[in-house]
Amino acid sequence: MKKIFNSRAFNRKYNYSGRDLGVTYSAQVSFFKVWSPGADGVMLVLYSGGNGDNKIEEIPMKHQEKGIWRAKVERDLEGIYYTYKVKRGNKEEEVMDPYAKACGVNGKRGMVIDLSKTNPKGWEKHSRPTISNPTEAIIYELHVRDMSIDDNSHIKNKGKFLAFTETGTKSNEGETTGIDHIKELGVTHIQLMPCYDYLTVDEAKKDSAEYNWGYDPLNYNIPEGSYSTDPYHGEVRIKEYKEAIMSLHENGLGVIMDVVYNHTGISEGSSLNKLMPCYYHRTNAVGRFYNGSACGNEIASERFMVRKMIVESLCYWAREYKIDGFRFDLMGVLDIDTMNCIYEELSKINPNIILYGEGWAGGPCGLEDKKRALKANAPKLRNVGVFNDDLRDAVRGDVFISEKKGFISGGDDMEESIKFGIVASTKHPQINYSKVNYSDAPYALEPRYTVNYVSAHDNLTLWDKIEASCDEEVTLEEKIKMQKLANAIVLTSQGVPFIHAGAEFARTKYGDENSYKSSDKINQLDWKRKSEFKEVFTYYKGLIELRKAHPVFRMTTTSEIAKNLKFLEMPTTHMVGYTLQNHAVDDEWKEIVVIFNGNQVVQTISLAHDKWHVVVNGDQAGIKVIETLTSGEIKVPGKTAMVLVKA
Ligand code: CA
Repeated sequence: MKKIFNSRAFNRKYNYSGRDLGVTYSAQVSFFKVWSPGADGVMLVLYSGGNGDNKIEEIPMKHQEKGIWRAKVERDLEGIYYTYKVKRGNKEEEVMDPYAKACGVNGKRGMVIDLSKTNPKGWEKHSRPTISNPTEAIIYELHVRDMSIDDNSHIKNKGKFLAFTETGTKSNEGETTGIDHIKELGVTHIQLMPCYDYLTVDEAKKDSAEYNWGYDPLNYNIPEGSYSTDPYHGEVRIKEYKEAIMSLHENGLGVIMDVVYNHTGISEGSSLNKLMPCYYHRTNAVGRFYNGSACGNEIASERFMVRKMIVESLCYWAREYKIDGFRFDLMGVLDIDTMNCIYEELSKINPNIILYGEGWAGGPCGLEDKKRALKANAPKLRNVGVFNDDLRDAVRGDVFISEKKGFISGGDDMEESIKFGIVASTKHPQINYSKVNYSDAPYALEPRYTVNYVSAHDNLTLWDKIEASCDEEVTLEEKIKMQKLANAIVLTSQGVPFIHAGAEFARTKYGDENSYKSSDKINQLDWKRKSEFKEVFTYYKGLIELRKAHPVFRMTTTSEIAKNLKFLEMPTTHMVGYTLQNHAVDDEWKEIVVIFNGNQVVQTISLAHDKWHVVVNGDQAGIKVIETLTSGEIKVPGKTAMVLVKA
């Protein structure tokens, strides 16, 4: 099949470049178009509801060139639901329109919608935060349900999009919760875990406790129904998602959507595969699905109509929902040309769009390594960043081996990988790349192409990893030091920092490494912890304030970093330190020294100058002077970050 689909003859005959797949609606007439080359017939089926026995009529669709089937209905179909019946030989299958923009419960039928009626009041002109370089972003990864489902959030719309419209909420302990909390922390962007319509959670069981992360896409262009207050009426989830986005924007937060174009939740039985068998997924010579996603299939992004589908879907979210950026799940499954095409098209809608992804796949793929958006191929990507697992595992220890220690917990030989993260995986004269965890070369051409992090939804939370990798005698106090040190490294490093929601109050999932369908109890943000671990919260908040106030922590070019960031000689192993000289941007801080001590005990380093203001130590972080030292002999306590400013 691969040979046929990649043949010039097939492409000439069937590549359809029109942007009108799906429904084109007006009150007078609706046009339906679907791509299904080789079908023997396609019927448009209209229903009055998104589920149940309420068929209105079946309308034969006309075959036109390029494998397109179309129907025209000359009356107002707003609010009418629909499917397609596709006939191949003597087999007839009813499918959901993969280009649908609205749907009924559980995404089984498309819905004809007037999108202009789904905009909240003030939507067109509401203000959105803008940044000029992704290095200005501080990203906070959050699952919609996790934020509000705990009773102690005191948010009314628990587990829903509308939770993001609630301000003024507080926990029993009197701490801010929900978006007030996120604002208080100071991050700039929220990365929402999958919000498109996914498969697993049964939307019909309203307010059930069923939980899923949502990495099982069903409909790429429709919001998830279980996050809405009414999944039965297609317009509700759209309105409510827009209300959430608008509220986040108005509270100064950008919105990044986690998108999963690497596979479909259903393989053979997916609408895409029924409309055009074996085209949308990579299959081998005998038609078996490749499984580079580790979820049963992988999308053949390199094919014309697949690339087109992905690009149009992203442009739709960026334009219709005003999404500010995208995080690509298992981006290493997708091909490089598609990723570059994505940037090219999205940048026309928003020149400051933020794009990054996982530069790896979940297993062997049906497309050669050199063609895919893997971390090693990052230099071939244009304006697409990748997650830095080199730094992640250096700081916390290997994510796949619970007991393995990292820099914060006393792991050996992590220094070079920490340095690699500090320079945002760029080329720097003082790094020995052969000693870096997984990368043997600087993969980021510029710092904006690296997303630095120590924890995300996958694997143990940072806190659980610390618990799992530390010996029994390690005290709570010492573990808190490690929790602080880990993100002190991330938040002072060049590149784009990324925080897993709740890390700021030592989030635990009780050791659950893969909580994708675990209970709320495991997954929820437990707001009581905010007061229990208030010192961690205050510390992260201070680091964020520091980063935002001083652009030298987020230089925009590799050459600036190579020129202004100099690593210092350390007295012993398990330490990394560097100076930041004032760079081109005006800053009253002319020289900054940053030191991380991963050792158990205090270490002393000698600096040439002998008067320093301390702005970050083991207890506090921020932009205010904590104390002034009058000696160049700097004592750095164990498991501690220090930031000093030349006085
Ligand atoms: Ca769903």
